[in-house]
Amino acid sequence: MSPHSSTDFILDDALDAAIRRAGEWVAEAQFVVALTGAGLSVESGIPPFRGPGGIWTKYGEPPMDGYQRFLRDPRGAWLERLSPKEDWMRALGDAVRAAKPNAGHHAFAELERRGLLAALITQNIDDLHRQAGHRHVLEIHGNHRLLRCIECNARFDPSEIAVDPERLPPLCPHCSGLVKTDVVHFGEPIPPDVLRACFEAVDHADLMIVAGTSATVYPAAEFPFEVLRRGGRVIEVNPEPSELTASATLLLRGPGAGVLSRLLEHAIAAQQEARA
Ligand SMILES: [Zn+2]
Repeated sequence: MSPHSSTDFILDDALDAAIRRAGEWVAEAQFVVALTGAGLSVESGIPPFRGPGGIWTKYGEPPMDGYQRFLRDPRGAWLERLSPKEDWMRALGDAVRAAKPNAGHHAFAELERRGLLAALITQNIDDLHRQAGHRHVLEIHGNHRLLRCIECNARFDPSEIAVDPERLPPLCPHCSGLVKTDVVHFGEPIPPDVLRACFEAVDHADLMIVAGTSATVYPAAEFPFEVLRRGGRVIEVNPEPSELTASATLLLRGPGAGVLSRLLEHAIAAQQEARA
């Protein structure tokens, strides 16, 4: 045994052998899709919403009709966004702004750069995949940094839209639609362009890496099962088994940062071997 420790987990021989197999699958697959969730962000210091240490566990659940509230009173919703009165919003905002991508985010970005990862779908709104250098990110629940027109779905960097507290809400320069945060509120449909791109990616996937999420919430919950139905493989990366584990082709039990950076090494080695 030559356990090799990385940040906060011990890579024993059995786990490393499983990660090597996963790396070989990544190298030989035609179209690899990743699906990530809150667990990956937790490793960057962003608390989850629910469960122990969760933001809503601590501050209470927010109203479940955020989108309807926005539509009823867009100006009020914007004023709240500009100076949040809700403790959980402030706590989440502070955590997200302070967070940095971890080795898991960087490993996915490097897989993409090397042509080993075709698409990445995330349930996270924290922008950390992009900050790690990932180029094509499908953000099912939006991105907290961006703004979005609810009519034409155009996304805007905050620098592209003048947000004048005297003239709220801001309107879309293309279609004059209402502009809100890109983050998908409770009660708000997932933007159809993102959803379509997700289904398209999943339709092509012969391997899916699910990291930091048990994928129990629609639509993400469908994705791994769709890949399995079509004969593809699903690799789950999670510190604890989840509802997905019984169906997954392979569970790599450990934190995303440690497991994914090792997975990257094995995938590169397998890719080089295949080329030699
Ligand atoms: Zn618009």
